[in-house]
Amino acid sequence: MPERSKGRPRVVILGGGFGGIGAARKLKDADVDVVLVDEHDYHTFQPLLYQVATDLLDTSSVGHPLRDLFHDQPNVSVKQDAVTGIDLGKHQVSFKEVGPRTYDYLVIGLGARVNFFGVEGAAEHAFPMYTLYDAVTLRTHILERWGAADRDPSLVADGALNVVIVGGGPTGVESAGALAELYRNEFDKDYPDLPQDQARIILVEAGPVIFSMFKKKLQTYAKKALEDRGVEVMTGESVKAITPTRVTLADGTVLNAHTLVWGAGLEASPLAGSLGAELQRGNRVAVEPDLSIAEHPEVFAVGDIAWITDAKTGRVLPQLGSVALQAGEWAGKNIARRQAGKKTEPFEYTDKGTMATIGRGAAVVQFHRGRTMKGEPAFLAWGAVHLALLSTGEDRAKAVVDWTWAGFSHERPGRISVSADEE
Ligand SMILES: Cc1cc2nc3c(=O)[nH]c(=O)nc-3n(C[C@H](O)[C@H](O)[C@H](O)COP(=O)(O)OP(=O)(O)OC[C@H]3O[C@@H](n4cnc5c(N)ncnc54)[C@H](O)[C@@H]3O)c2cc1C
Repeated sequence: MPERSKGRPRVVILGGGFGGIGAARKLKDADVDVVLVDEHDYHTFQPLLYQVATDLLDTSSVGHPLRDLFHDQPNVSVKQDAVTGIDLGKHQVSFKEVGPRTYDYLVIGLGARVNFFGVEGAAEHAFPMYTLYDAVTLRTHILERWGAADRDPSLVADGALNVVIVGGGPTGVESAGALAELYRNEFDKDYPDLPQDQARIILVEAGPVIFSMFKKKLQTYAKKALEDRGVEVMTGESVKAITPTRVTLADGTVLNAHTLVWGAGLEASPLAGSLGAELQRGNRVAVEPDLSIAEHPEVFAVGDIAWITDAKTGRVLPQLGSVALQAGEWAGKNIARRQAGKKTEPFEYTDKGTMATIGRGAAVVQFHRGRTMKGEPAFLAWGAVHLALLSTGEDRAKAVVDWTWAGFSHERPGRISVSADEE
């Protein structure tokens, strides 16, 4: 029998990402009980995952305990479990470990996952960059490959140090820039016996340009900033097949590379498909202007899983942390409004600009009215906007200290490998 809600209305929030946290926070003063469920016991700050993969930041700077975020909110209880099914008809969610739970209101913020678009060998051999686990796995793999080549230099010609990055959007470009800084600033000193000039970092983009969402002058700046850092940018090329040591491009070129980072695409959580709701590109759930799902005014979808049209501009909002946080907060406010007997309101997004970093002191920003910024000022703007997204004041302080320290010292303290077979 599903556990039933007794007493106050129960709001079940699925996912402790930006969307889920935003919704829970806005229900602080509402007369409801909130259950927030995530398969992890931490919130992941995805915009800084590259810094974990390239040893600039420790995992604790990017993952924050979810329970800790709600110590001051007695109406929220955090549960760690995997959601396995959502039955909108029965108002019920099922889980991997515990029995089903019913809800009076549901907020779905389960995010997205990597989409390999069926490229041969990608699911088995590519390194995605979406979770904290992905970042740590990539970091361990790269350290292991450099260590192996240091012991056996013949591996260099075989591509042990080479990295191919797929996708010229923010994930691919930011990964390429971060890896280039790790290679050129740290590994050249860590591994003086290895030929740094033979360690290739290749960014492959199927379209004619990188950063297609930005204006031409920002695209040109980003390409040059990458090239200045020693990244080879290949546009108009796509990856056809991947093995552990080789990457085959569509034109038949075979690249020797023991590492392929996948930054080429996302699709919504597979649970989106089980809702019976309208799905849009990337299997995202289409939502009504107030973020509820059609014919289910008690169910809201927010963040990367949702296809949200901005009520102000009529455009579909991108999968960004700021969109997820604001949408989550809006869904929370709409639930509180409904509880207070008021009508829900259409979501209005406050756009602080589209931005991406390329490396230390190099970034691009495009504001929605068309103004642009690049270089150091854009890097600082990126920092300011993203610091505001961090969960707590303590996280913000830690990030500022870590970044500032890394900026001055160029130190990457996480550059050690710990393996399971150590005693
Ligand atoms: C590498 C990278 C860099 C990025 N950089 C930026 C940036 O610079 N600026 C920016 O604005 N945005 C950036 N983004 C995008 C931004 O991080 C996302 O848009 C945002 O995290 C979406 O929030 P969300 O709450 O929808 O989903 P998520 O943050 O993905 O949270 C979803 C949560 O649901 C949980 N979950 C998923 N499935 C289940 C399940 N079955 N059961 C239980 N729990 C589940 C997950 O554990 C996760 O905690 C970046 C993303 C990536 C991957």
